[in-house]
Amino acid sequence: MQTTKSLAIVIPVFNEGPYFKNNFLEILKTLRSDNILCRFMLVDDGSHDESWAVIESLCNEYEFVDAIRFSRNFGKEIAICAGLDHIDADLYITMDSDLQHPPRFIPEMLKLMETENVNMVEGIKSNRGKETFKHKFFAKTFYSLLHKITGLEMDNSSDFKLMDRSVIENIRTFGERNIFFRGLVDWVGFSKASFYFDVDERKDGGSSFSIFKLIVLAINAILAYTSKPLYLTIVCGVLFFIFAVVLGIQTLYNFFFGIAVSGFSTVILLLLITGSMVMFCLGIIGLYISRIYDEVKNRPRYIISKKINER
Ligand code: UDP
Ligand code: MG
Repeated sequence: MQTTKSLAIVIPVFNEGPYFKNNFLEILKTLRSDNILCRFMLVDDGSHDESWAVIESLCNEYEFVDAIRFSRNFGKEIAICAGLDHIDADLYITMDSDLQHPPRFIPEMLKLMETENVNMVEGIKSNRGKETFKHKFFAKTFYSLLHKITGLEMDNSSDFKLMDRSVIENIRTFGERNIFFRGLVDWVGFSKASFYFDVDERKDGGSSFSIFKLIVLAINAILAYTSKPLYLTIVCGVLFFIFAVVLGIQTLYNFFFGIAVSGFSTVILLLLITGSMVMFCLGIIGLYISRIYDEVKNRPRYIISKKINER
């Protein structure tokens, strides 16, 4: 199967070590058996291990493999965007380097794009693969929080996507630093089809997303996508105002009728509740201010230390 359109595959790689070579060869073998021709853009997200050496040897061996290396770890989201910035084609696929986004589904995705005549085919996980209970729990909490706050339905969505030129050209115009790739893709719109796939188990190595990294990603995703949490501060304010009016009336009533209580615990409780609410709201505002600060500094999104074959 081969369409007349050119295809580019972008793969972010971070500390995948020696396994990456086998994973890449597996992807290549699968695509070749389906007669799919494509170019690859491998993005080394500042790996500390031999990943770059492996990528270099693949670039030397295959002329259709290009690569860039970041000067440090900038994160998967930025790595995907950088990869898309540095390769040109009619169709683009983004996928993980660990075979958890199985290449055998690529022909079906291409076919779906053609039959449904859409700009984008999104890979949706029909199972989450083998993840630790902790990972599953955090993913579930994160997606339900994201859905409540932003309205974004992202449960089981993945970065395994097929997109056409019009989508990518729009994504390239985004200059922001704090990005959540899936949120960005959702925001640009265009017609979409969903493709359900079973996540394969990671054969070698482990996930590079620790719980801490997942929490940071979750906060980033919400802040990058919406300013709705700021409205939460107003909701808190209104609730406390109603609370204050009711308590105020009661206090005045007690005062004028000479039955003012000696309720010290009430005072302490009120102080604690309002204090924590004020801090909570200030925290939310602070988060957005720090994002504004990040953006106005206008630093480059990523720094490339090495490029191979890239044109
Ligand atoms: N990755 C990356 N930068 C990072 C962390 C991960 O480019 O800081 C890449 C990694 O090499 C892989 C993909 O993102 O290609 C998914 O990573 P991983 O398998 O660790 O995540 P999980 O599958 O657990 O979500
Ligand atoms: Mg993985």
